[in-house]
Amino acid sequence: MHFLRLFCAYTTIALISVFRLFLSDPLMHLILLGPPGTGKGTISEFIEAKFEAEHVSTGDLLRDEVAKKTEIGKSVEPILNKGALVDDSVVVQVLRKKLSQAKAKNFILDGFPRNLNQAKILDWLLHELDVSLDAVLNIDSSEDVIIKRLSARRQCVKCKRIYGLDVPSKKKGVCDDCGAKTMQRKDDKPSIIKKRLRLYNELTLPLIFFYGGKGLLIHVDGNRPLQEIFEEVETVLKKFDG
Ligand code: ADP
Ligand code: ZN
Repeated sequence: MHFLRLFCAYTTIALISVFRLFLSDPLMHLILLGPPGTGKGTISEFIEAKFEAEHVSTGDLLRDEVAKKTEIGKSVEPILNKGALVDDSVVVQVLRKKLSQAKAKNFILDGFPRNLNQAKILDWLLHELDVSLDAVLNIDSSEDVIIKRLSARRQCVKCKRIYGLDVPSKKKGVCDDCGAKTMQRKDDKPSIIKKRLRLYNELTLPLIFFYGGKGLLIHVDGNRPLQEIFEEVETVLKKFDG
């Protein structure tokens, strides 16, 4: 009799565990926050490779529209070049399409949201797509590290891989992965970098409180060599994977 009761208890616990596994979303959905030049793109590439995640960068999506000379591309090109922010509704338009494909996988959002209104839109968009957010990594660096990094940054025009001080391409101006040209972005000039930093402090920084209040924020010190940052990010993210 005692054995039977024990057996029933164990079976119930096992069934509940299996049920919970089905109920909880096994995918990992992240946001990377932090000023331009803290290595968000490079860190996203690392997470992408390590956790089979899709890197969703609104900056890349918008630059793609520019390269393809679409209507959106033509309208946002001058805004991107001067380091200003594109209209929320336009960014949401390109993001919505990408997220509805990416939601079947792990994903990292980089460059969105950039202001409080976009954060509220994202809440609603994720709800609509039935996706939950696991964590917001806030990567911070000092202003002189940022300016040094951005001035050295180059990006592959084709596969979008990012090169910089810590990770230069083997051959100058050529992408290691696909052999296409690497270029400096038009907005990586000192005067424009300063403007982007100002906009970040004014509009994006308040999001730290928004996500802090939701208990999602994880701080990562970006003033360190990339390898150290990678190790910390990997440790932190392991608990969200699977
Ligand atoms: P960084 O983070 O280094 O500034 P991004 O690649 O994220 O670079 O963005 C480049 C540019 O694309 C921004 O300066 C802005 O013009 C535009 N952009 C990207 N994401 C957004 C967004 N969420 N809202 C408005 N504009 C955006
Ligand atoms: Zn490439």
